[in-house]
Amino acid sequence: MTDADSLITSRNPADPTDVVLQVPAPGAFAVADAVERARAAQPDWLLGGAAARSTALGAVADAIDAAAADLAALAVREVGKPLAEARAEVARTAAIWRYYAQAPYEPVGAVHETAMGPGLLLTRRRPHGVAGLITPWNFPFAIPSWKAAPALAAGNAVVLKPAPEATACAQRLAEIVQQALPDEVFTVMPGGATEGDALVSSADVLSFTGSTAVGQAVARAATERGAPVQAEMGGLNAAIVLPDAGIEQAAAHIAASIAGYAGQKCTATSRVIAVGAALDPLREALSEALRAVPVGDPAEATTVSGPLINGRARDQVSEAWHGLGALAGGTVPDGPGWYAAPTLVEKVPTGHRLLREEVFGPIAALLPADDLAHAVRLTNSVPYGLVTSVHTTELDAALRGLDRLDTGMIRINAPSTGVDFHLPFGGAKASSQGPREQGRAALEFYTSSQTYTLSP
Ligand code: NAD
Repeated sequence: MTDADSLITSRNPADPTDVVLQVPAPGAFAVADAVERARAAQPDWLLGGAAARSTALGAVADAIDAAAADLAALAVREVGKPLAEARAEVARTAAIWRYYAQAPYEPVGAVHETAMGPGLLLTRRRPHGVAGLITPWNFPFAIPSWKAAPALAAGNAVVLKPAPEATACAQRLAEIVQQALPDEVFTVMPGGATEGDALVSSADVLSFTGSTAVGQAVARAATERGAPVQAEMGGLNAAIVLPDAGIEQAAAHIAASIAGYAGQKCTATSRVIAVGAALDPLREALSEALRAVPVGDPAEATTVSGPLINGRARDQVSEAWHGLGALAGGTVPDGPGWYAAPTLVEKVPTGHRLLREEVFGPIAALLPADDLAHAVRLTNSVPYGLVTSVHTTELDAALRGLDRLDTGMIRINAPSTGVDFHLPFGGAKASSQGPREQGRAALEFYTSSQTYTLSP
């Protein structure tokens, strides 16, 4: 719920009777007020110096490590993340804060000779002020952190508007971050569209991750007011399997990318493109690998595919396989939670939803291609362009054939899922808008350049 007088309720997706948290939505005015208070606190945060910012970010990393078990358990309970992945996300979150803790010491500009005559030129990057961060529920600690840590390192204050489904995780993260930072430098405002809109209308720089429809609207609104904006959005990612690939290994990577966390990752695989003779062995190996995926209680350390985030999400998955005759899955397992079996379908008619839109669940379509060029055309035939995995033992030939692949990331002989936070992350077309996230690119996004002329 998103109105000012309504409640935000988050539930355990494995047991929807378990209410994890219920809080009133703060409403638009409270968000604008939080931005004003952050704006007032920001100059001292910047002028406090690089060492203070570095120490604070390092302290956040240490506190996340110290609270790792609790944080992982909360992600299991609130967003249904399987325990092993929840632990990995928390470890990565600490590493992200530790990585950006070094950033305040890096150069923020350069000195140049003037083009003509005496004097010097100086460029200097400075923070925008208040960074407004709008995040999805599926990586409740890592995504807010990979936005907040570089924003803070560069000297901005932050107001975070997390997804309502992940409110408890965001509040727990806020407690940890706020312990290490001066007051008002990092604020969480829970809520939905109302609070998100209010942040888009008031922050000095906006970073959004979520669905494409919302992200494009956020990017338009921010651009209209002249605020720098980046939006990371959906995917409809393909795995291309060449006939020379190690089929068992490819099937294992692809099954993990379809079914891990019930397919609820922007980098999940939802189309599997088998080139030529790869089709028959891949159909068999992948169907078998998907049937073997451990589905069940996310609190179990062995679970790979847990519940969908809510009933609507589960229904979208079962509607997507309806009438297609599944090679694997295509069933809704028993349980109080919102489960769907990892599913592979083929002979999907042109124009079917699975080939046009992100379903955000554990389901993929198997498609044949004549050759690599055909596979690349099929991969590019959707509005999205986030990541593609390519499975082959002929690396040279494959690399030459991938020049026309229009996705932001290409992963060879690896799952399509997985993110290295020290490199730029993002996609093409409807998957991303604006500068890249993560790595050193993020520090540029959260700052703008000023040029000084020093005449003798
Ligand atoms: P969502 O678009 O429903 O919500 C994302 C955020 O936007 C939430 O905080 C939500 O409350 C907020 N919001 C909703 N309406 C708004 C509005 N009008 N103005 C401002 N904010 C508004 O997405 P979700 O269901 O939370 O997350 C799943 C989606 O996120 C999937 O599409 C997935 O692909 C995408 N995702 C992308 C990446 C990436 O890096 N590309 C990473 C993770 C998830």
